[in-house]
Amino acid sequence: MTRARRLLLALCLVAAGCGDDGETEDGSGTTVATVPQPGTETTTSGGGTTASGDSGADTPTTASPVTSVAPSFETTGPPGSAAPIFLRPRPATSILVEVGAEDGAEPTQATIDHLRNVLADVSQKPVQMTGVPAPAGRDAWSASDIRRAADDVGSGAEGEVAVIRLLFLHGTYAESDTVLGVAVRADTMAIFADRVDEAASPLIGPAAIEAAVVVHELGHLLGLVDLYRDTGRDDPEHPGHSTNRGSVMFWAVESTLVTDLLTGGPPRDFDAADRADLDAIRAS
Ligand SMILES: [Zn+2]
Repeated sequence: MTRARRLLLALCLVAAGCGDDGETEDGSGTTVATVPQPGTETTTSGGGTTASGDSGADTPTTASPVTSVAPSFETTGPPGSAAPIFLRPRPATSILVEVGAEDGAEPTQATIDHLRNVLADVSQKPVQMTGVPAPAGRDAWSASDIRRAADDVGSGAEGEVAVIRLLFLHGTYAESDTVLGVAVRADTMAIFADRVDEAASPLIGPAAIEAAVVVHELGHLLGLVDLYRDTGRDDPEHPGHSTNRGSVMFWAVESTLVTDLLTGGPPRDFDAADRADLDAIRAS
């Protein structure tokens, strides 16, 4: 069975498991999961203003929006800026995660399940996972490239559904080849599958790293650490990150140094301080 086939089955299983939330009017959002050919290059949205805090700034594209994907909510700002949309009970009453993976870069079933469970837990909303077309590949990805690829393959959603875009890519992040994952816009994150594989060690396999990195990037979209609030608890050496090595928001979780610095394996979940921040945003 090919990895693409396994992903398709995985996403179908997830979708079946979470039932029909009935919120998404876009047909591809509710019935899930084809992994068709790469999407056409018809859509460009403006792009955010920065990459995630650990990765340096990226000049946004200035191309005008062209067409079609019409997100329900304003999610074109930097990572963390849409945290209230994902976390507050309203106006978004459910979350759709669009997963696009290059051939051979697909996530494991466990990663999909873990992401969905964590997001449903902290948002207290129904979460649906859906497959979208594979993004067209490239060797090096800037933040703008990732945003554009996410928009090209994204299906969008209407109504009270907040959308998160997640890409699994070959190649490297253009600004640093030590990056395993990156959050590039309020609604968009990417995982570099080859870098994850290379970061694995005999004791810590790529699946464990992949699951941790995905939740780490999700944490940035949800405003961690201090990307939305200003608690002063983020790591001064690594802005946007936790100083707690037991938190999935510790900076090294998304670095090729992960197995060197977290020899017991990376944490896969938020710590109490992270969850307190998420609770505060949800209640704000
Ligand atoms: Zn990070």
